[in-house]
Amino acid sequence: MKRIFFTVGPSQIYPTVTKHLNLAIKQDVLSLNHRGQEFKGLFKEVTKNLKKLLNIPENYQVFFVSSALECMERVISSCCQKASFHIITGAFGRAWAGYAKELGKSTYTFAINPTQQTDLDKINIPEETEIICITQNDTSTGYWIPPEEITKLKQKYPYKLIAMDAVSSIPYVKLDYSFLDVVFFSVQKGMGLPPGLAVMIVSPQALQKTEILIKKRLITGSYHSLKRLSEKAVQLQTPETPNVLNIFLLNCVVKDMLKQKITKIRQDTDKKAQALYNFFNNHQKFKPFIPNTQNQSPTTAVFDIKGKSETIRNKLTKAGFLIGAGYGDNKQNHIRIANFPSHSITDLKRMLKYIP
Ligand SMILES: *Cc1c(COP(=O)(O)O)cnc(C)c1O
Repeated sequence: MKRIFFTVGPSQIYPTVTKHLNLAIKQDVLSLNHRGQEFKGLFKEVTKNLKKLLNIPENYQVFFVSSALECMERVISSCCQKASFHIITGAFGRAWAGYAKELGKSTYTFAINPTQQTDLDKINIPEETEIICITQNDTSTGYWIPPEEITKLKQKYPYKLIAMDAVSSIPYVKLDYSFLDVVFFSVQKGMGLPPGLAVMIVSPQALQKTEILIKKRLITGSYHSLKRLSEKAVQLQTPETPNVLNIFLLNCVVKDMLKQKITKIRQDTDKKAQALYNFFNNHQKFKPFIPNTQNQSPTTAVFDIKGKSETIRNKLTKAGFLIGAGYGDNKQNHIRIANFPSHSITDLKRMLKYIP
């Protein structure tokens, strides 16, 4: 039976990935020298295509690392001397604050209860904070922070860096990068690729900050410090031997998405999100976990299904549809359903028929 993965990550692969994998084998991508001309060509092309798809400013740099969790650590070690601030809406934001603490920083946190309405305007950020870390879409709770609110925060604190985890919202989320200093995502969520690669988008201001720390003779990391990544990126390379196959596949999928047009991808995502939330809003017993509609994630929706998670997941699995369990303590009470570009509305509607 052909299975369809509505899991929040790894998730359903983008429909063209099998074709591109065959192309990768045919073109010897699996043996490619990562210091050679062919790789440099690929690095240049994928950066150009990503910038076009996501509307990233020309003077921002694009780095390739191994995971989003790695990005959380790199951002702190390379761009923060003493104090970081963390807006926490779920487990991923909490993990990020934890890493900052383990790296010896003073970590301030603002924890949002996902089931209550919160106004980001109320946040007061201490003077000594150098960087504000935000999980734009926390996949553990399905809590979405509207990007406009983050823009407002940057306008209020223009001299603090903003770092954003957009792992499970890219490419759908529309961002104005001029208000963001570091944005990162791993490719096994919205991009529909196998895991083992993450992309970090970095502003000139973030790189200036790391230069300041280096001048003070502070440690900003080693092989994957932002400085080292930046120097290598200028040479169209990575410090280590990277995941060349996945970088190749990413380029192929980004090109497919450019052909499809990002506006169409966003419209389709909205349509599917509407179908999904309508279904649960009209359900007798089950409800969206996030009550406030503007914080309901369009890309990773979480539903409260009153302890029936396992029963429902088993039923769906038998029909060939995989969905996510609740995160952590909510394993039994929640289900999580991904709505990425790889998911068709037809499959979504077919899947919903199996929800009792
Ligand atoms: C999945 C996920 C991560 C972790 O990604 P890795 O690639 O496993 O490091 C971080 N943040 C969010 C919001 C995620 O959904």
